[in-house]
Amino acid sequence: MNPHATLSRRAARRFWGWGQADAQLSAGELATIRAMAQQFEVPFTEPAPPQLEEFTLNAPRVAAPAALAEMFSATALDRLNHASGKSYADLARMWLRASVAVPDWVAYPDDEQAVIDILDWAQSARVAVVPYGGGSSVCGGVQASVDAGYAGVVSLDMERLNRVLEVDPTSRAACIQAGALGPELQSQLKPHGLSLRHFPQSFEFSTLGGWIVTRAGGHYATQATHIDDFVESTRMVTPAGVLQTRRLPGSGAGPAPDRLVLGSEGILGVLTQAWVRVQAPMRFRASASVQFDEYFAGVRCVRALAQSGLNPANCRLLDPLETLFSGVGDGSCAMLVLGFESDDHPLQAWMERALELVRDHGGRFDAQAVTRSMAAQNGDAHRSGAAGAWREAFLRMPYWRDPAVGLGLIMDTFESAVTWDRFEAFYRGVKADVATAIARATGQEALLSCRMTHLYPDGPAPYFTIAARGSQRGSVADALAAWHDIKHAANAAVIDHGGTITHHHAVGRDHRSGYEREVPALYRQMLASAKRVADPHAIMNPGVLIDPLPDPLTP
Ligand SMILES: Cc1cc2nc3c(=O)[nH]c(=O)nc-3n(C[C@H](O)[C@H](O)[C@H](O)COP(=O)(O)OP(=O)(O)OC[C@H]3O[C@@H](n4cnc5c(N)ncnc54)[C@H](O)[C@@H]3O)c2cc1C
Repeated sequence: MNPHATLSRRAARRFWGWGQADAQLSAGELATIRAMAQQFEVPFTEPAPPQLEEFTLNAPRVAAPAALAEMFSATALDRLNHASGKSYADLARMWLRASVAVPDWVAYPDDEQAVIDILDWAQSARVAVVPYGGGSSVCGGVQASVDAGYAGVVSLDMERLNRVLEVDPTSRAACIQAGALGPELQSQLKPHGLSLRHFPQSFEFSTLGGWIVTRAGGHYATQATHIDDFVESTRMVTPAGVLQTRRLPGSGAGPAPDRLVLGSEGILGVLTQAWVRVQAPMRFRASASVQFDEYFAGVRCVRALAQSGLNPANCRLLDPLETLFSGVGDGSCAMLVLGFESDDHPLQAWMERALELVRDHGGRFDAQAVTRSMAAQNGDAHRSGAAGAWREAFLRMPYWRDPAVGLGLIMDTFESAVTWDRFEAFYRGVKADVATAIARATGQEALLSCRMTHLYPDGPAPYFTIAARGSQRGSVADALAAWHDIKHAANAAVIDHGGTITHHHAVGRDHRSGYEREVPALYRQMLASAKRVADPHAIMNPGVLIDPLPDPLTP
């Protein structure tokens, strides 16, 4: 079997990093990595990425079902690509060339009937099924490691179910297959003059199905931004049958079935399609960037903005260190990237009022730059200035993280949400606890920054970035060992200081310790009971989110 062969119809992806196999770094990005290596006193030579031949994979433990064999692949490339997601630890294990748990098979179902057939086979053969969208999970959501009670593991890749099936322009909704990547669904909606307007940072390599079952957050700061806000109805194939919910703009009929599908992380079944609310493309934009000498003055300002009813599309407060990481500041003051968007009306009045609030809280801004942006219609104003620089850095960051991992640097993020009354203590407490853990694990002072990704009238969603060195000799193994301690501390810190274990990255395997403290045991039992009905033999994504109830058929 050719180890480089694949049944995937998409452009080849890196199994050891972010993006397509032929992605290149710019000279500037390489310079950033060199500067980081210098900062951490790690010797810099551009690290050689892992090669397929460096991994020895065992033969599949189970035979593929004969009737579906054409959709099943066991090549090294397919199995390594589906072994895990894209968290720091997932990538570090690949860079270590460690023995990673790979799925026995990768299945590429052509249609929903094939999904049903695969689940039927898996149930009868006691094979675990890991649904796979874009594989961009950063919390151990698509790992192929399951306990010895299973005969094998199949990764069920949804890439062939990637079409927009129907558009309802009257209600402004579209029925889209779950395996569509962001750009795929966007390009199919465009001829209809519509957009889903859900843009997570991972947009290029994540799917509608993945977004729905992880409750993903888009990059808009307020109003409709969580995928939850867009879901009108869902269709999920479970081992026990198909769950199709009704298309409704709203309903008060009991606990909503879509609410159980949202966030189900593949443990109940495979989402095959959904009706989602879509929007007209934005015609008006206004943006500004604001500086605050004192971070908490900026915090008070964004709270006022969040509670003003102005609903800025972008309202991202970066603490001083985060401005350095994002390449939009020198680390001496905090920065607010502020923006409004509308498909309907000019935004002058909204921006004027927002800037009054900014002035009231001591923010400084270049009035000339604001005025120019406000005049822009249908243009690329949002791609210029500080907002544009921030956006570009935001989208490129995952690309240059890869070689940094290979150099033995720890580059990771964690996120939460907390009410405003607790925010200041939360920010200080989480930073202190995680910095202590970093110092203990690496012997070095931490680089730990924070930005706000989403804002609600009752609280923000802070997002932390860690840069640290695993050891002076630049060992990936040391860095991965240190990461385990740091991750453990971060999980504990966000819960200890009153936040959620995850605002939008999901629970997977890596956040279960926090999830179990956040969500009442009774509720987890209720969820396990629902799983028992949908997935009686617990074949769906074992290890993720909750422990299933014991299988009544297992002696
Ligand atoms: C660089 C980077 C940036 C990111 N930025 C964001 C961001 O801005 N906002 C955000 O919310 N998240 C972000 N993430 C996390 C990740 O992209 C999201 O969790 C995303 O929703 C996962 O989608 P996916 O299609 O890649 O799913 P996968 O990673 O393939 O799977 C995620 C989980 O969903 C399950 N699953 C996938 N498809 C299905 C299906 N059809 N039916 C049932 N279960 C399924 C999997 O089993 C797994 O448990 C980022 C990740 C990276 C690496």
